[in-house]
Amino acid sequence: MAGSEHLMTTYAPLPVCFDHGAGAVLSDSNGKTYLDALSGIAVCGLGHAHPAVSKAISEQASRLLHTSNLYCIQNQQTLADKLCRISAMDKVFFSNSGAEANEAAIKLARLYGHQKGIENPAIIVTDGSFHGRTMATLTASGNRKVQAGFEPLVQGFIRAPYNDIESLKNIAQNSANVVAILIEPAQGEGGINLLDKNFLEQLRTLCDEQEWLLMLDEIQTGMGRTGEWFAFQHNNMHPDVMTLAKGLGNGVPIGACLAKGKAAEVFQPGNHGSTFGGNPLTCAAANAVIDTIEEQKLLARARELGNRIMTGLEKNLADIEGVKDIRGLGLMIGIELDRDCPELVQQALDKGLLINVTAGSVVRLLPPLILTDEQADQIITTVCDLIKAFV
Ligand SMILES: *Cc1c(COP(=O)(O)O)cnc(C)c1O
Repeated sequence: MAGSEHLMTTYAPLPVCFDHGAGAVLSDSNGKTYLDALSGIAVCGLGHAHPAVSKAISEQASRLLHTSNLYCIQNQQTLADKLCRISAMDKVFFSNSGAEANEAAIKLARLYGHQKGIENPAIIVTDGSFHGRTMATLTASGNRKVQAGFEPLVQGFIRAPYNDIESLKNIAQNSANVVAILIEPAQGEGGINLLDKNFLEQLRTLCDEQEWLLMLDEIQTGMGRTGEWFAFQHNNMHPDVMTLAKGLGNGVPIGACLAKGKAAEVFQPGNHGSTFGGNPLTCAAANAVIDTIEEQKLLARARELGNRIMTGLEKNLADIEGVKDIRGLGLMIGIELDRDCPELVQQALDKGLLINVTAGSVVRLLPPLILTDEQADQIITTVCDLIKAFV
């Protein structure tokens, strides 16, 4: 584990290198095994080395990796059809990452504004949000840590508190140049923060009144993570734009920006593009992911596992002082402590469990959808033991 002096110091990795995985279990280079309750941050929803995904990738790799968006790409067309069927959106643009999917959404919103004659279009974004690390998406993020040192930031964003419909109505009264709102239906990096029931319906009404595009960042919440294909489907509403990445390729880098209705008509040839976006290999992986989630009925399973883990945590941590809140949606679960707890990550690793701590004091669990009941129970026991010993 000597590491390399030649890697840029953008990360501070834990002292472990994984060699291979199967399902929810990873093995390190010394043969020690770990239960993965993080899925590479909500990426490997089907677990590691899923046979259907591995097969799709290896078959595609031996046939054709890349041509270009100068030509038709069959896998891309198939994937767009599938994504629109499960989301009831109309059109898809494919990118290589979440940040790029959000860049597409931001550009789409600005172009929509210009087409309406708004010269300086503004997009509402919220406190505590995370939308990526490119200049526009770090500006959109509500976290000073990702912005500090990278000023000047990008213009054209207005910040509002998360989960506060009144403040958005207030902005509507006072700002004429708003064209869209970009918001996570549940904040991931920000600490598993949920919206009030009916918030999204109220936001839909406001956006309709104001002719704002309602743009949902489902990069972390999408692809079955919350027990529906997309988190908005827990509500009776529909976004105009939705971005995906993380779970879409189960580890193969792919992102997507989906649009519906008038938003789907904004981009015209030449407005936006990507060399790699939607290439035959990444789309083969994503097609296999969608097929597998359907065939294995993993949305219902994610809900069931989410309930099991939430119930277990609530039971075990009920009277523990220091545990401020336990909250979640499907398999996106946060346990908020009354103090920062970064050391829990290493302590869990020592016990063979991969977890994450975000927003300082929130233990974040994002286990794969293919977890067994026994593995779910193991996560509950280990996490509760660690927290009890810590607080
Ligand atoms: C991870 C994430 C992103 C950024 O995705 P990248 O692929 O790292 O660029 C954007 N939004 C949300 C909600 C995320 O969780």
